[in-house]
Amino acid sequence: MSEAETVALPARAGAVRIDEALRYAGYAGIEETQAVRERSRALAVEAEETECAQGTFRIFSVAGADAAGVHLAGTELVLPGESIADYLNGARAACLLAVTMGAAADGRLAAFRRASRTDGVLYGAVLADMVEDAANQLEARVRAEAFERGLYANDRYSPGYGDLPLSVHPAFLAALDAGRVLGMRAVEGGFLAPSRSITAVVGLFDDPPARAKLGCAWCAARPYCAIRAAGRVCYRRDR
Ligand code: SF4
Repeated sequence: MSEAETVALPARAGAVRIDEALRYAGYAGIEETQAVRERSRALAVEAEETECAQGTFRIFSVAGADAAGVHLAGTELVLPGESIADYLNGARAACLLAVTMGAAADGRLAAFRRASRTDGVLYGAVLADMVEDAANQLEARVRAEAFERGLYANDRYSPGYGDLPLSVHPAFLAALDAGRVLGMRAVEGGFLAPSRSITAVVGLFDDPPARAKLGCAWCAARPYCAIRAAGRVCYRRDR
């Protein structure tokens, strides 16, 4: 088990993918027009200047698996379900990570909602894309740490994927001390507060996982990758 680290994850200018934010907004019933696109871009610029995500991660040895799920050494957390057992099959360790835009972002979102329904939806969508980008940024740190340790990292896997339930969140957050260091908590239904937050597991292996064949082209951590910046790659045996 490694020590928890709290990491500030400031957004790059232009980090918000407007098309992706509009897709999130579309789910909330906002129809895209030129005016909506321009307003999204303006809110994204504002958010990139105002908001700053925070995250933390911690690496645990995999202690084994049984009918209850995958056990991580030094924590009460047990990860149940076939999908996470499959994902962590053969892993030496598992990194738990959490990222949040924070309670202040939720406060600004509430103010936008009070001022204008459209702005509320669009700002919420911008924050949703920002927290994804922040998770990519933290995943890059995890991948660099795995590289330093001579391990290979898989893509991250979040509660809610496959049959890994959101109900793991209280123990997941406790394992990261995320209530104290990030102000995160689990709420009804296993959802997270603050509202724009992400948790995930990253499996760490002695050998490159199958996903590694895809290389950097499909890697979410690519914009923030220190390994590539140093002229190397994480996924080859002869790295
Ligand atoms: S080297 Fe490539 S695959 Fe590995 S973390 Fe960096 S961008 Fe991703």
